[in-house]
Amino acid sequence: MASVTYEHVTKRYGDTTAVHDLNIAIEDGEFLVFVGPSGCGKTTSLRMLAGLEEVSAGSIYIGDRVVNDVPPKDRDIAMVFQSYALYPHMTVAENMAFGLKLRGLPRAEIESRVRGVAKRLGIEHLLHRKPKELSGGQRQRVAVGRAIVRNPAVFLMDEPLSNLDAKLRVQARAEISKLHMQLGTTFIYVTHDQVEAMTMGNRIAVMKDGRLQQVDTPQALYTRPANLFVAGFIGSPSMNFFSAKLREQEGTLWVDSGAFRVPIPPHQADPYRPRAGQPVIFGIRPENIHDPQYQPPGIQPARVRAKVSVAELMGHEVILHLSTTDAEGILPEQEFVARVDPRTQLRVNQWAEVVFDMDRFHLFDPQTEERLG
Ligand code: ATP
Repeated sequence: MASVTYEHVTKRYGDTTAVHDLNIAIEDGEFLVFVGPSGCGKTTSLRMLAGLEEVSAGSIYIGDRVVNDVPPKDRDIAMVFQSYALYPHMTVAENMAFGLKLRGLPRAEIESRVRGVAKRLGIEHLLHRKPKELSGGQRQRVAVGRAIVRNPAVFLMDEPLSNLDAKLRVQARAEISKLHMQLGTTFIYVTHDQVEAMTMGNRIAVMKDGRLQQVDTPQALYTRPANLFVAGFIGSPSMNFFSAKLREQEGTLWVDSGAFRVPIPPHQADPYRPRAGQPVIFGIRPENIHDPQYQPPGIQPARVRAKVSVAELMGHEVILHLSTTDAEGILPEQEFVARVDPRTQLRVNQWAEVVFDMDRFHLFDPQTEERLG
């Protein structure tokens, strides 16, 4: 087991900076997820740690050893690739044993380790098969098994579930989380899927354009996103954003979008008072907008008039697409999404009132895009 530290790590390919000045300290035994859209530098960050890419500047530590110049095989890591990279001509048992053979472990020990891991992963009955005789889910397990038998200090996983269908992905996600808890080893996992990141990571590192945006627990990223990008990336459907102005009137602070005006609860207002009179971006998540008839108790409701353009019945909830405009209809319509109680009577093409839960709003600076307050 080992900690992993990225210290001012940069990776350049010619003129492209794939990773820019990355700093993260990953604790021993932690499950850290790198997440971000395609091209954000998450795979490059992982491959530098694995020793598959050179570091252009900065240092990577495994434990307290700088590994920049240590060959991959001496880093005490095991990696599961998106493609699984199983050897097609070898059986499952041979694939799993391969790394141990290279290391010169005694045959009996290799056999007992392979059998033990195969049993743990429920693939014992597949040990004699070749990869082409396996389903996608079984291949994924073999790839994980091949990493586990090596008993490494750190596990690296690069989108290991992206070739599975949706249902299997949910199951495999839970299996990997369980495995992490059983093994207690450091896991570093790359995905573009924010749901995977939220459900699996102890902490999540959100990246964009080669830069780390925020690293924190799933709960903290959800409740206090550091900037507009993280706010929009974490959560599905995404947070709604409105251009607005902060206005102070008789001691009350209002968010005024032109189309609607909602008050900031007094106990939350103080940090924003210096911004009164200035433009802001107001953010609210779809799950914090309710049909007033079914609003949960104890929220800070603020009513907003809007027209329903689409209603999607999901069974456990209805996703409403709404648009709002000012009383005169002069302002451009602003569209937003709400996840409401499935009993809602709100119908398409109707003007309706919805409530924003003002205990759960977010404000951002329109210039810097950083969180306010
Ligand atoms: P994806 O999810 O699509 O794999 P990613 O977030 O993992 O994306 P990286 O693969 O780390 O992104 O790539 C980061 C940036 O570096 C991209 O702009 C990519 O085009 C560039 N890049 C990656 N590998 C190379 C390479 N070998 N040569 C040149 N540019 C590269």
